[in-house]
Amino acid sequence: MSGPGRTVALVVAAGAGSRAGGALAKQFAPLAGETVLAHAVDHLRHPQIDELQLVIAPGQEDLCRRALGNRALPAPVVGGATRQQSVRNGLEALAGRGDVARVLIHDAARPFVPDAVVDRLLAALEQNEGAVPVLPLADSLALADGSPGADPMLGDAVPRDRLVRVQTPQAFRFPAILSAHLGWAGAADATDDAQVARAAGLRVATVQGDDRLDKLTFAEDFERAERRIASAMTSCTGLGFDVHAFTAGDHLWLGGERIAHERGLAGHSDADVVLHALTDALLGACGAGDIGDHFPPSDPRWRGAASSGFVGHAAALIAGRGGRIDHVDVTIICEAPRIGPHKEAIRANVAHLLQLPPARVSIKATTTERLGFTGRGEGIAAQAVATVRLPEEK
Ligand code: MG
Repeated sequence: MSGPGRTVALVVAAGAGSRAGGALAKQFAPLAGETVLAHAVDHLRHPQIDELQLVIAPGQEDLCRRALGNRALPAPVVGGATRQQSVRNGLEALAGRGDVARVLIHDAARPFVPDAVVDRLLAALEQNEGAVPVLPLADSLALADGSPGADPMLGDAVPRDRLVRVQTPQAFRFPAILSAHLGWAGAADATDDAQVARAAGLRVATVQGDDRLDKLTFAEDFERAERRIASAMTSCTGLGFDVHAFTAGDHLWLGGERIAHERGLAGHSDADVVLHALTDALLGACGAGDIGDHFPPSDPRWRGAASSGFVGHAAALIAGRGGRIDHVDVTIICEAPRIGPHKEAIRANVAHLLQLPPARVSIKATTTERLGFTGRGEGIAAQAVATVRLPEEK
């Protein structure tokens, strides 16, 4: 719907500012288990954005790499002394690649970009050379008269009905904004690209912004963002169940614990019925299918595999979605071996695997009063429940 040519998000992460209180530039600062930059990158994944290009300041390469974790992105462009020069460097780098039709220029310090804002910007760009998200002002506005350093006296009121707060991302037709930046002769500290665009005579439309796009500047902004992320998490519960039959052997694996027993458990991997049920509970909590989807028994790679790897994979999936595991509860169902003497060791193993305090891990055991297949001693069953918090869809 947006016509030929590619759409690129140009993310400006070149600031050195530390008004948030830390020595670290705020785009690299930690926020709810990630960095501000990582949140920004994750939130700019959108079906109509083809590519993401970062612009950083000279010397920030290592910080940037660490802040992104395992996210694969093109090498960052190195910016200039001012924001306007940094954006210009980024646009010039894009020009060298050809076929860029649209660019969304965005400040990394506004990490939570809703998909709907991108939708509105790209729709507006079909009729206009530029489009920016704006919000109305709620507070009364007035001039302040006074000398620097002192609390100023209140001056004249400023009518607010024609004023808006301008956010990013700001969307432009690429050739138009490139030539606007190349021709910019205004102040060195242009604070946004709409200003550069309008100076070049471009028509810039407004679309509805979103208060999730507010810039993170002060320590209070980070605290508010942390609270918002925490309260926006949805609690999800996953259920897992698994059975393995006894076979000849002299030990079996339960919850990562090697237990001497007169029989072993049959299975393609190490047949750890506890960790299999737990893996399914974790996968279930994040709607990611079941253990067989991720580790097909037909695949020779998992022959004799330690099931701790399956649990680790499921936990990494949850972490990769910005989720948190709150609690797991397991019931082991068998007549023998006796589980009681091993419960604390299994609990410690699971707590270690999931990086949870042991108090958030429960391991229980029961028999079925000699009824059914577990009662007849044909195998062992395990049930698991995982409680997980996941971020709301953006
Ligand atoms: Mg199994």
